Amino acid sequence: MDHSYLSKFYTKSRVERIDALEKAGILSANDKEMLITGLHLTDDMADNMIENQLSAYELPYGAALNFLIDGKDYAVPMAIEEPSVIAAASSAAKIVKQAGGFQTAVTDRVMIGQIAIKNPPNAASMMEKLHQYEHAILQKANEAHPSIVKRGGGAIRLDVRHIEADPVEKMPEFLILHVHVHTLEAMGANILNTMMEGILPYVEELIQAPALMGILSNYATECLATATCRIPAKLLRKGDLSGEEVRDRIIDAYQFAYVDPYRAVTHNKGIMNGIDSVVMASGNDWRAVSAGIHAYASKSGQYRSLSTWEKADNGDLLGSLTIPLPVGAVGGSISFHPAAKMTKTILHYENAAELESIIVSVGLAQNLAAIKALVTEGIQKGHMGLQSRSLAISAGAVGEEIDWLSDQLKQADNMNLATAEKLLEEYRQ
Ligand code: NDP
Repeated sequence: MDHSYLSKFYTKSRVERIDALEKAGILSANDKEMLITGLHLTDDMADNMIENQLSAYELPYGAALNFLIDGKDYAVPMAIEEPSVIAAASSAAKIVKQAGGFQTAVTDRVMIGQIAIKNPPNAASMMEKLHQYEHAILQKANEAHPSIVKRGGGAIRLDVRHIEADPVEKMPEFLILHVHVHTLEAMGANILNTMMEGILPYVEELIQAPALMGILSNYATECLATATCRIPAKLLRKGDLSGEEVRDRIIDAYQFAYVDPYRAVTHNKGIMNGIDSVVMASGNDWRAVSAGIHAYASKSGQYRSLSTWEKADNGDLLGSLTIPLPVGAVGGSISFHPAAKMTKTILHYENAAELESIIVSVGLAQNLAAIKALVTEGIQKGHMGLQSRSLAISAGAVGEEIDWLSDQLKQADNMNLATAEKLLEEYRQ
């Protein structure tokens, strides 16, 4: 693949961009035609995916460029409605590429299923019994979903947690059985839910107590992905600020988000701009991923920055992001949704672990772009420039009116809908 065809991508027309992806060896002639025609769900697909289906809701689908991850170049598809996210990710990825790219590590892909028992009559002896019967419980779980075992995965271990009653909050005591399952290339929600409901009657019989429910946990603490980058300070210079100053301000911005939840939520929202849009483009369950990641941000007991930014001994900026990332390369609508299939083609990922590496790197790039802008020129300069196009469309501009109105809005004192409508009305007179 030759990514040099992708230079000045943002200056090209939509068809030229798709053409460049073909020339770069990322798309076949057939894929190119599909992208040009549009990645539409058929009526049959949409009607069978959800209940009470009325139509399909579309989002723009674009590609962030310049990603060098574990030595491999990627153009990364993103599905997102917000302007400036793709531009910001591409620009941060370009800096990181000059510094050698992102390095990633992913843990084993293990998901956790839960069975909860409220007010266990004798928690200690029940815990003992569950541990004693670990082998039999795992076997029953695997019998409930034999195909994942045949593929080389399945239930591998169990834990039992005990949560004491809390009289102040009027909360009861719980005994919670955790079953850990290798889900291989699948995210595993349905696999886990089948297993948990499958073993529930057996667990009730063992402990002689009723269970409340059996369900997957979206807090995927055993399916973690980490991206790191190391950037020489000189690559961070911006305007009058030296690279060292920008580096130190980026570290200050991270520290602000580490200590203050009000800042951490917005800091992490910026990370999620990248993560959610690739998760969505890949056909994965972004609600599941988001819920788990935000819980992980609170693992210390306080909601904090998901990323860390520090100074290396030699003065380089070191960035790191670790998140639970239970995405699948199979399952759900991944194998038939036209956009999810296109994402697989463009990313050329071989397995779910590689998809995790890409997504976590995009999250770190997105974070770098946001905090670098915030501590230098501010985000509005870049953001509102791109926002002007959405405003022009909201005001009713069509065709070449959009370019004209967007340029006018960038120079206007108040870039808002009222100004856009007024300018458009004058233009049309
Ligand atoms: P699926 O139910 O689609 O199951 C994936 C299936 O893919 C496996 O059961 C397996 O079936 C097949 N498969 C083929 N190749 C492989 C492979 N190499 N590794 C693993 N499986 C393979 O998806 P998931 O169980 O992953 O569940 C994800 C879906 O569940 C998403 O659509 C999500 O939105 C939804 N969901 C999420 C919930 C949550 O997050 N709380 C709750 C409920 C649903 P086989 O071996 O039989 O061929």
